[in-house]
Amino acid sequence: MRSMKSFFDRDRIIYFLRDADAGERRMLYATADTVRRECVGDGIHLRALLNISNCCDRACLYCGLRAGNKNITRYRLDRKQIVDAAGRAAREGYGTVVMQSGEDPVLTPEFISSIIREIVSRHDMAVTLSLGERPREVLRQWYDDGASRYLLKHETSDLVLYGRLHPGMSFTARMEMLSSLKEIGYQAGSGVMIGLPGQTWESLAGDIMLFRDLDVDMIGCGPYIANPHTPLGGTSKKDGNQVSADEQTVLTVTALNRLVTGDTHIAATTATKTLYSGGGLYRALRSGANVVMPDVTPSPFRDQYLIYPGKEPVDGIAGAAELRAELKKQTGLEIAGGRGDRVRCHS
Ligand code: SAH
Repeated sequence: MRSMKSFFDRDRIIYFLRDADAGERRMLYATADTVRRECVGDGIHLRALLNISNCCDRACLYCGLRAGNKNITRYRLDRKQIVDAAGRAAREGYGTVVMQSGEDPVLTPEFISSIIREIVSRHDMAVTLSLGERPREVLRQWYDDGASRYLLKHETSDLVLYGRLHPGMSFTARMEMLSSLKEIGYQAGSGVMIGLPGQTWESLAGDIMLFRDLDVDMIGCGPYIANPHTPLGGTSKKDGNQVSADEQTVLTVTALNRLVTGDTHIAATTATKTLYSGGGLYRALRSGANVVMPDVTPSPFRDQYLIYPGKEPVDGIAGAAELRAELKKQTGLEIAGGRGDRVRCHS
């Protein structure tokens, strides 16, 4: 593995992203599939995704949850709705619940603390949080309450692009939070969007190297999907160095992430399923990914977590049995049991 990690230096990563032909890419996917098997095994880990609020006080130019978007019905689940949904997920056999939201200050530290404590006291379940940027002492408290993983995507490591897309936000703050999370003891996850307007192949290669350098535990990268109700939605700028959001690029990123990080948990994202109608999800799972995040948000709220149009979340409760069967059939892999923490692989 060590030699594989160092084989993929910046120039080779750029080559595979931008220049490799179809045959070379097939080899890359197959190699990533082998490394996935050696490092994290043949089990697909299912994480129950519970979107607890779509309220957000940020203004990210690409995201449908952004504060300025009036074309979205806002919701915030109450304590009972959250705890009940986590309970349904536990009974359905999920070993992890991922509580995700916009950056919503109404979700106070105390409110989240009490929910974490209730879930971990009732169920043998890992709690992952994806609630945006929070102060270190709050993260510490939630960890002490029983949360064990946190997702905070860095979205792009191109500082100029980051600044343009995230008014009033700081890339450095994201980096500091990712390192705080690791210091506290969380398994930390990051990720980027693929095909953001203005994103170059070089910066995407930088993102992949950053996953390795930060030693993240989880990675989620999906295609950028334009949302017409956002300032970025109408942009269509084509120049030669612009990253495309096609399936080939998403699979190449997935494979490279596996090859440079080895034993991380890598998600085949909902956006991947949405854009490449189902099949993309299965192909990602045979190109390095090993995690699927079915949506367990109760209706009607599930459809209101509208980051981009046409979202096709996997129904994690009503569709759970069918999903498991389909995942096995389409990928030839197994469904993993248990909590699915990161286990370091030393091969
Ligand atoms: N607010 C949380 C994340 C919630 S939104 C945080 O800051 O961590 C979850 C993710 O949706 C974002 O991290 C982003 O990567 C993705 N996303 C937002 N807009 C998108 C779009 N138009 N297309 C694809 N993915 C998008």
